[in-house]
Amino acid sequence: MISPKTRSEADTVGDAMHALIAELYPICRSITGDGFRATLDIIRRRIPLQVHEVPSGTRVFDWTVPLEWNIRDAYVKNAEGARVIDFRKHNLHVVNYSMPVHATITLDQLKPHLHTLPDHPDWIPYRTSYYKEYWGFCLTHNELLKLRPGDYEVCVDSTLVPRSLTYAEYYLPGETKDEVLVSCHACHPSLANDNLSGIAVASELAARLTSRPHRLSYRFLFVPVTIGSITWLALNEDTVRNVKHGLVLTCVGDSGAFTYKKSQCGSAEIDRAVAYVLKKKGNPHRVIDFHPYGYDERQYCSPGFNLPVGCLMRSQHGTFPEYHTSADDLDFVKPQGLEESLEIVEKALQLLDCNRRYVNQNPKCEPQLGKRGIYQGLAGMPDQKRYELAMLWVLNQSDGQHSLLDVTERSGLPFDLIRRAADALEKHDLLKSI
Ligand code: ZN
Repeated sequence: MISPKTRSEADTVGDAMHALIAELYPICRSITGDGFRATLDIIRRRIPLQVHEVPSGTRVFDWTVPLEWNIRDAYVKNAEGARVIDFRKHNLHVVNYSMPVHATITLDQLKPHLHTLPDHPDWIPYRTSYYKEYWGFCLTHNELLKLRPGDYEVCVDSTLVPRSLTYAEYYLPGETKDEVLVSCHACHPSLANDNLSGIAVASELAARLTSRPHRLSYRFLFVPVTIGSITWLALNEDTVRNVKHGLVLTCVGDSGAFTYKKSQCGSAEIDRAVAYVLKKKGNPHRVIDFHPYGYDERQYCSPGFNLPVGCLMRSQHGTFPEYHTSADDLDFVKPQGLEESLEIVEKALQLLDCNRRYVNQNPKCEPQLGKRGIYQGLAGMPDQKRYELAMLWVLNQSDGQHSLLDVTERSGLPFDLIRRAADALEKHDLLKSI
């Protein structure tokens, strides 16, 4: 494995995001517990998070906040006392949320508690047992084949006690209460693309937006998958009304083609904005329809909320062999992959921020643009003809119903040009934004 650069050595924003992932990678996270809190402590060095603790047992719609899980150590020792499976070497070795156990058992008794990937005999699988009482270990298939019949000491030194579920949000108010929700799960242990890449891109994006003027408000959520988004929705039903656009970010650091999964409605502004940016930028990509499986978009798009929230990925979860295995490591995520993802999200959100509707103030026939000096300084500009065309499109479509993205899609002209045209027309009182 190449040793990753530290944050201070980072040359590019991609390197900086990769350095954050490298720092977070060793922590044993879960849907509750100190690993999740330690993760937030690192993220909050970059952005000021508001951290919430929700007591175990709290009812959140049809779910209940579970007992808090923490782990100090876990191992399987052979008869000679050697650790043949060791949590300290890799936190994927223990089934996440394993209940405590300390016993000596035979190999046959141990086997139902062991998980491997025979097709990838050198990788450790990632397994969880959040909502049923179980303990188990994950190991490479080659390690399993080396285990000889005999007695084994098994120990999971974990605790499952009533305490709390932790999540964090960062709210960045804009000129309007209308907000963009950016959500990522932060509960997976040592997995880089699934989980940490989303955290890195979301944190960088939040830091950048903080220092930039913006019309819309932004809310960044760092939650444990499923139970975290359900908890946030249950505790924030009033806030939810302000969410006008949303994105779940996950698996955004590998080198695969982009996958954008549309919101349930399928034609939300966020769906069209991301599709436009992906197409314009020319990265290999596919836009897929919503389906009720995947990450927290399942909760945001449930019928009681039906929020316009899509999900941006590079390689789609569950479709690449490294997914949920020890091969989803620091080599699997690339600075360039992260940087391209950041750029796509940033551009899509910028587009939403500028996507206004206008009313033409001179709607009866075209206004005489020449006499207003709008063309001044344009002569000889390489895109003069297209710019003039953009103005005509904006004037024609500005009936208060069509947004600049609508005009962009209908005209086939670039969004930036349409926006420039609208800015110029507004300056000359030919358009009024609504
Ligand atoms: Zn996952």
